[in-house]
Amino acid sequence: MRYAFQLSKKYTQEVPVYSLILNREGKIIAESANLVNKIDVTAHAEKNVMLQVAQYEGYRNLSKYILLSTLEPCDMCQEICRLHCLNQVYFSAYNRLKQCMSPKSWIGGILLDEGSQIIKKCFLNCRKGKIK
Ligand SMILES: [Zn+2]
Repeated sequence: MRYAFQLSKKYTQEVPVYSLILNREGKIIAESANLVNKIDVTAHAEKNVMLQVAQYEGYRNLSKYILLSTLEPCDMCQEICRLHCLNQVYFSAYNRLKQCMSPKSWIGGILLDEGSQIIKKCFLNCRKGKIK
């Protein structure tokens, strides 16, 4: 998770979310930051990594993989996880903008203080006009 925190901070024009897809041996298969301001409004880190793996693997069933994210996946990404049969999700900070409950199998709050501070700092800077 700390690796994801470090990389999330490099994307200063985005909400600092970084996601990884791991195989069951813990090897990183794909990784991405939020690219909402670079690609489109749906280019969330979680969606980006699922797309990378699905394209690489050539199939949509990602049930053998693990998603790790610095922020609880939003409702859109939660649905994409469901469509990809991706049930193992670990995240740090809780997403207060979510409308739907995350599945009970998802595990949140990993290094919660650190993850929450990164997100809070970003939104404080947004309010101060430092980030668009
Ligand atoms: Zn999302």
